[in-house]
Amino acid sequence: MRVLVLGGGVVGVTSAWYLAQDGHDVTVVDRQPGPALETSFANGGQISVSYAEPWANPGAPLKILKWLARDDAPLLFRPRFDWRQWRWGLQFLVECLPSRTRHNTIQCLNLALYSRDCLQTLRVETGIEYDQLERGILQFYTEPDEFARGVEAAGLMRDFGCDRDVKTPDQCVAIEPALAQCRDQVAGGIFTATDESGDAQRFTTALAQLAAERGVRFAWDTEIQALATAGNSIEHVRVVRDGRFERLAADAYVMALGSYSPFLLAPIHVPANVYPAKGYSATIDIGDHRGAPTVSLTDFAWKIVLTRLGQRLRVAGTAELNGWDTSLNPTRCEALTARTFELFPDAGVRESVRYWTGLRPATPSNAPLIGKTRYRNLYVNTGHGTLGWTMACGSARGLADVIAGRKPDVDFRFLN
Ligand SMILES: Cc1cc2nc3c(=O)[nH]c(=O)nc-3n(C[C@H](O)[C@H](O)[C@H](O)COP(=O)(O)OP(=O)(O)OC[C@H]3O[C@@H](n4cnc5c(N)ncnc54)[C@H](O)[C@@H]3O)c2cc1C
Repeated sequence: MRVLVLGGGVVGVTSAWYLAQDGHDVTVVDRQPGPALETSFANGGQISVSYAEPWANPGAPLKILKWLARDDAPLLFRPRFDWRQWRWGLQFLVECLPSRTRHNTIQCLNLALYSRDCLQTLRVETGIEYDQLERGILQFYTEPDEFARGVEAAGLMRDFGCDRDVKTPDQCVAIEPALAQCRDQVAGGIFTATDESGDAQRFTTALAQLAAERGVRFAWDTEIQALATAGNSIEHVRVVRDGRFERLAADAYVMALGSYSPFLLAPIHVPANVYPAKGYSATIDIGDHRGAPTVSLTDFAWKIVLTRLGQRLRVAGTAELNGWDTSLNPTRCEALTARTFELFPDAGVRESVRYWTGLRPATPSNAPLIGKTRYRNLYVNTGHGTLGWTMACGSARGLADVIAGRKPDVDFRFLN
């Protein structure tokens, strides 16, 4: 079958990979000149299975209210005259109900666990390299009361089959010696040894190369403008390439345009409550410095992650619900690096910092939208929010199963 995968981020490229494994004739279409140049470009790098619980939880609304006025808040809701933002926000409130939180946590955890297995298998099969480290994730706390709540949550997550080890400050330093630089601030930590990290952009680029060697085609610099329907099918996709309008036709289509998916789906009445949650990252060259962590860390108080990628340190975080604007806000950029060098003064070369921002394709529940649509040959794989890198391989493998008519090997609610 000829399949057009719309989008060449980590989700689109992994989709193309697994579809090609099934023998399909696959073409990936993207407006950028290469793979992973939008949200998959410079994310936090964590394969964060053990922290897959959603943002939407009973405590979230109060926290968000408290953060409303702070420009450097970890999660910032900037109210706009945009019905899409309000629809998303209202559904988010529904997802904060305890029963929804429980359901969403199980969904996200199942998919993330499965996805890590798929990634590990793919790594063994292909030998793909992407600055990966299998040294776990240590979430550390600087506020004692937050730590106490973290210990409680670790107990709950154990009931869902997710092992989180509670650590004293000294044990945290033993796991990650760089924490000695801020030992007196650390109240404790939660360690998940099976979590991993790696560079999503390097991974996606290398996988696209391997896929191309196996016959997948890539149409870069191609802007997708619309999906044209005929009855209950997609007939073709209208694109612009080199200033010329073209039609691309296939037997099946996979929507993997991240935060931009709703723009193409809404006109053909396919619901997709995906709204961008803008995040920032800073990439710092380590140079001769000795104080950069190698175990991937999450600073719970600031909701930022620090991940070692070869000779670089990636620091990422913050979320701003403020439309599709990708300009860099200096306050939010500086908040990231100020906190990094406050905790780890010897982390890297201060003058080398590269800031970046990306739009997480967030659903109110945090669970991505994967599976069939009302059109018999249109499938979606989008809305991965905070965990698109973590969930990419499993989502793509699951979708390939759905397209092939097989039952996916994961207990996840695929769209039907
Ligand atoms: C600051 C930050 C930190 C993060 N940290 C982590 C982390 O540590 N771990 C984790 O698991 N996840 C993390 N994420 C989330 C993760 O990066 C995303 O979920 C993931 O990259 C989404 O991938 P995607 O392929 O769906 O979207 P994208 O990578 O955005 O891909 C969509 C593609 O569609 C293309 N496109 C869009 N519209 C059009 C059009 N009209 N025509 C043609 N092409 C189009 C774009 O060019 C793009 O290449 C983070 C995100 C951010 C912003």
